[in-house]
Amino acid sequence: MSDMLVVKAKLKDVCKGFNVAGDLAEALSAKVGAAVEDAVKRADSNGRKTVMGKDVPFCFACSAKHEESLIVKAKLKEAAKGANVAGDLAENLNCYAHGLLKGACERAESNQRKTVMAKDL
Ligand SMILES: [Zn+2]
Repeated sequence: MSDMLVVKAKLKDVCKGFNVAGDLAEALSAKVGAAVEDAVKRADSNGRKTVMGKDVPFCFACSAKHEESLIVKAKLKEAAKGANVAGDLAENLNCYAHGLLKGACERAESNQRKTVMAKDL
């Protein structure tokens, strides 16, 4: 898919010890896309034309360093539908994506599966 917002090749690095199902990247991309849309709405309701990291409400409590950058930055502008994109947006979306993957791996594990699937997100 050309409008993928996440780097598919890196999912396996993040989901260490798991296999990654073919549908995971697309589902994760869709969730990141929805988070961008929400962030745009939040910026807009605050009278801003620039979407910022703080408009992604999932990462305030996270102090983890995420080594793998999962977000395709070049696609964010398009996903933000013309809004300006602040430099820290990709960073917070990356945190959000990492959080989703962590939860998905935990769900797969609790179901005793070695493969993480879209439905685990
Ligand atoms: Zn984080």
